[in-house]
Amino acid sequence: MATNIQVAVRVRPFLPFEAGSKSCIDVFSSSPTSSSSSSSSHIGNAVKIHHHNKEGHTFTFDKCFGGSVSQVELYESVVVPLLNSCLEGYNATTLAYGQTGAGKTYTTLGPATSPDFFKNQKHTPEHDAVGILPRALRDLFHDLEQKRNSTNSNSNPASETESDILDETINISKSPIRQQSSSTNNNNTRFEYQVKLQFLELYGEEIRDLLSTSTTQKIVIRDSAGDSEAIGATEVPVSSAQEAMVCLTRGMLRRVTGATAMNAESSRSHAIMCVMIEQITRSEGEDGEEAVVVQRSKFNFVDLAGCERAKRTHAKGQRLKEGININKGLLVLGNVISALGSGDKSKFVPFRDSKLTRLLRGSLGGNHKTLMIACASPSHKNAEESLNCLRYANRAKNIQNMATVNVDPHSKLVNALRDQVEALAGELL
Ligand code: ADP
Ligand code: MG
Repeated sequence: MATNIQVAVRVRPFLPFEAGSKSCIDVFSSSPTSSSSSSSSHIGNAVKIHHHNKEGHTFTFDKCFGGSVSQVELYESVVVPLLNSCLEGYNATTLAYGQTGAGKTYTTLGPATSPDFFKNQKHTPEHDAVGILPRALRDLFHDLEQKRNSTNSNSNPASETESDILDETINISKSPIRQQSSSTNNNNTRFEYQVKLQFLELYGEEIRDLLSTSTTQKIVIRDSAGDSEAIGATEVPVSSAQEAMVCLTRGMLRRVTGATAMNAESSRSHAIMCVMIEQITRSEGEDGEEAVVVQRSKFNFVDLAGCERAKRTHAKGQRLKEGININKGLLVLGNVISALGSGDKSKFVPFRDSKLTRLLRGSLGGNHKTLMIACASPSHKNAEESLNCLRYANRAKNIQNMATVNVDPHSKLVNALRDQVEALAGELL
């Protein structure tokens, strides 16, 4: 079924160096029945931005998050549904968009995740700041482990699973809206899974494999049904959320950053972190034949380069050239968004004009459930960039994706043939 990509806006709080600045963006709920009034501290579905327009420009989105909305509130509101879909076999993508300093990396990763985050749920400010990717990894492994334990357990079905006991010991409190896996305890069914990571950086039109130490290996982008694959990119198997974060953090160390006038730690490249999930269910039929269902899904977390225009960064020489190259990806992404969002199916979509859009093919009009998070600063000094960012996000609202559950075609065929044999053999009895 075709579904529109979800577009959310997150306005970050003022930072210490902006103390005393005037806010130019309000988050509110446009629904007449809602009692929530104009405020920058809530979750709503509309934003009003003031820039050279007395009335202000108003935009509506699926969700709008004001400055006091926590990481966990944002995660539970818009990312948990994607993770649940991923566990059901759909592909998913989150795309963080916005100018440098607007909160893309904070939203995606947060500040350094401490190992304690994966062990307990103490509410320290440090844990509260953890971004959507480490949260998704923690919940992903939790759910997969639970599914494995409850499916493979041969003991009394009513008894506690190993995973429940583990939860109690380490005191992981699951958020109330998290989906609980509902596998039945069937002794003839076995469930296994594997999680692998890919971490690519796009610097201009150059793809870098952040999980590889080799500088010679070549990555080729191949289109595949409603999606694309990075052939040759390193895939690292990981067996826990903590191990996954160690792997990604090593990759981040390799990421190229360069100082610009906008932000000393400015990220001038796009980061694509891909979590690949394989779920294998084997069940034994009454005739002793084994049926295997393999579900493969992936969850892309994309932290895009800053979308500010070069003139504001006072970039010169190599930096200006980098800015132009990097913005080429964002420019083509904008063109792809416009073409897909136009509603005209015959319109040419220039996916092939940049590596960024080739890599994101599945996320835009393809076989992914996609969430765009447009990040904006509240400061009136950034009003022009924030307005551009909101306009860009506004165009993305009309994009329709066709997400379907990914079941390995071979196991689908084998199982269909088995069913047919059973049905035909049954007729003969
Ligand atoms: P970007 O990746 O878009 O360039 P960052 O994520 O690095 O921006 O954010 C810039 C600064 O703002 C960082 O110091 C970050 O910790 C802070 N920040 C961003 N969003 C928030 C937020 N929602 N709450 C608190 N601090 C934030
Ligand atoms: Mg960043």
